[in-house]
Amino acid sequence: MSYDPSNIFARILRGEIPCKKVFEDEHVLAFEDIRPLAPTHVLVIPKGPYISVQDFAEQAGEAEIVAFVRAVGRIARERGIDATGHRILANHGADGRQEVPHFHLHLVGGRDLGRMLPRE
Ligand code: 5GP
Repeated sequence: MSYDPSNIFARILRGEIPCKKVFEDEHVLAFEDIRPLAPTHVLVIPKGPYISVQDFAEQAGEAEIVAFVRAVGRIARERGIDATGHRILANHGADGRQEVPHFHLHLVGGRDLGRMLPRE
């Protein structure tokens, strides 16, 4: 599967669609999820054209990977959810029900998030 440059996050990166920006640097953009599931629900994306964590891990340069991980930590701290607890997750592919095929982490917190997954 090749990267689809018409996906919604690629369009946000190109400035074609607005977002509520939380953080930006050379390699990373973070913005509020349009349908938040918790008081904090931030999407953190690399600016490069990566579909999945696998793609990001294999193709991204070290500076991009470092910037991405640092951004996640920084946003969690700035939102105060480092202290109270939070969850970071990435959906991938069909079983993960990934909706947008541009690699992203969901950073959620600000309330008790319950169990990680419902039991079968
Ligand atoms: P996924 O299922 O791919 O992990 O999650 C995609 C996320 O992107 C969803 O939580 C959804 O609410 C969010 N989303 C979809 N379209 C937009 C948009 O246009 N703007 C923003 N800010 N978030 C979006």
